Amino acid sequence: MGAWESNVRKVTPYVPGEQPWQSNVIKLNTNENPYPPSPAVEKALREMTTGTMRKYPAVDAQPLVNEIAAFYHLKPEQVFVGVGSDDVLAMCFLTFFNSDRPILFPDITYSFYDVWAELFRIPYERIPLDEAFQICPQDYFRENGGVIFPNPNAPTGELLTPEKAEEIISRNQDVIVIVDEAYIDFGGKSVLDLIGKYENLLVVQTFSKSRAMAGMRIGYAMGNEKLIAYLNDVKYSFNSYTMNEAALALGTAAIRDRTYFEEITARIVKTREEAKRRLADLGFLVGDSKANFLFVTHRTHPAKAIFEALKEAGIYVRYWDKPRISNHLRITVGTDEEMEQLYAFLEKYLRN
Ligand SMILES: *Cc1c(COP(=O)(O)O)cnc(C)c1O
Repeated sequence: MGAWESNVRKVTPYVPGEQPWQSNVIKLNTNENPYPPSPAVEKALREMTTGTMRKYPAVDAQPLVNEIAAFYHLKPEQVFVGVGSDDVLAMCFLTFFNSDRPILFPDITYSFYDVWAELFRIPYERIPLDEAFQICPQDYFRENGGVIFPNPNAPTGELLTPEKAEEIISRNQDVIVIVDEAYIDFGGKSVLDLIGKYENLLVVQTFSKSRAMAGMRIGYAMGNEKLIAYLNDVKYSFNSYTMNEAALALGTAAIRDRTYFEEITARIVKTREEAKRRLADLGFLVGDSKANFLFVTHRTHPAKAIFEALKEAGIYVRYWDKPRISNHLRITVGTDEEMEQLYAFLEKYLRN
C-alpha cells in the first residue's frame, strides 16, 4: 500500500437495486413507478429548446421551488430542492448532523443512512425495530445528535401514525429530526403540517416514486425558513447549480398536474391491496405496507431461493442477505399485468 493510500477517504458505498440492461424483464426491484410521468411532462419536454442550455440554470431553482411551495401551501423559503432526495438527505446530514453524540435511526431501514454517516464521519446508533418490525417512539427519547427515519419505513413499508411520529419530534427538540417521506403519497399521512409547530422538523420527499420521475432526479425538503436557509448555505458552498434546466422545467410541469398524480397513486394503492390478498393466498406472510412495495416472507419456501428463481424467470425483486430480513423479499408494486405474471410464476414455483 502506497503511503498516499492512508489519506484516502475510504467508504463502503450504498448498493442500489440492479438496473438490468435487458428491456424484457419485469422490474419490481427498485420501487420505481410502473406508470409514465404526467403527459404534461412529455409536453414540457417537447417545448424545451437548447437555447436555455447555454446559460446556467436558476441558482435558487425557481420556478420549481415556487411550484412545490404552491402545491403544499408553503412559502418558497420553506422549500429546498436537490438532485433526488438522496442529494437532499446528504445535504441534510452535512448541514445538521454535527454533534459528537450519535444520530439515531432504525436498524432495519433505508441503507443509505449509515453510508452517509460513515462518509461524513457522523457517529450513529441503530435502534432495533420491535418484533413486528415497528418503530417504537420511546426508543428515541434519549440524548442524541439528531434523528432520521423513513415514514413509511423502508423496506418494511410500515407506517408510523402521525401521533407517534410527533412524539419522536416533540421529544427531540434540541436536535434536527428528519422524516424521510419517500413513500408517503401511497396512503400515509404526512407530518408536513407540523413544520410550523416544530422548528427542528424537516420533511423530505421525492419525485422518484409517486411522480414517476426517478430518472430525472428531483427531491425536496420542507421545513421552517431558518432550516432551509442553512441548507442553502451548505449547497451554495458545495455546488450552486445542482438542478439542471430540464429537471427544473419538467419537475414544474409534473407537480402542476395534481389530477394525474392522484390517479396513478390511487391505482398503485389498489394494485397493492389486491397483491396483499393474492400473495397471502400463495402462502406469504405480508406486512401491512403503505408504500409502493410489499415486504413478504413465505411460510415454507426460503426467500433467497424464490428470489433466484424469479430472477431466472426475468422477474426482478429485491433481496438482502442481512440480519433479521434474510428470509424476506421486497416486491415493488407494478402494473396489474406485471403482478399477474408474478402470481402466475409463483403459483407454479411454489407447487414444487
Ligand atoms: C427511494 C428512496 C429515497 C431516495 O430517492 P431519490 O430517487 O434519491 O429521490 C430516499 N429515501 C428512501 C427511504 C427511499 O426509498
